[in-house]
Amino acid sequence: MPENPQEVYDDTNVFAKILRQEIPAKIIYESTHALAFFDAFPKAPLHALVIPKGTYRDLKDFLAHATTEEILDFWKTVQATLDKLDLKEGFRLLSNSGAHGGQEVPHFHIHLCGGEKLGPMLAHR
Ligand code: AMP
Repeated sequence: MPENPQEVYDDTNVFAKILRQEIPAKIIYESTHALAFFDAFPKAPLHALVIPKGTYRDLKDFLAHATTEEILDFWKTVQATLDKLDLKEGFRLLSNSGAHGGQEVPHFHIHLCGGEKLGPMLAHR
């Protein structure tokens, strides 16, 4: 058991519920180790999320503990998702991590946003 409770995966998070099919999601692509679906509260005309099926809290946790097969499968799922979405004019990929990153759902995910010219990467300080 990790000493820091923040290092414990919280399996009540909304993406864990989607993976257990307790709540619905608009699935874009599914692979052995990853799932892509549309964000339920889109911040762009096209807003997809890609998550590993494994219980990783954020990018650092995923990179430190996922198997090579899981990591490769994750990025292949990102590729398949990009192929399925109409993002020929470009897109933005981002991953929020922890409190400073503004992460709301504590299951590692990346956002793929596009469908229009997006604003600056971050709000000006
Ligand atoms: P983050 O702030 O990076 O943790 O992003 C979490 C994302 O999950 C937000 O963009 C939410 O709109 C999205 N979200 C929350 N609940 C759901 C849900 N039930 N299905 C799909 N996306 C969701």
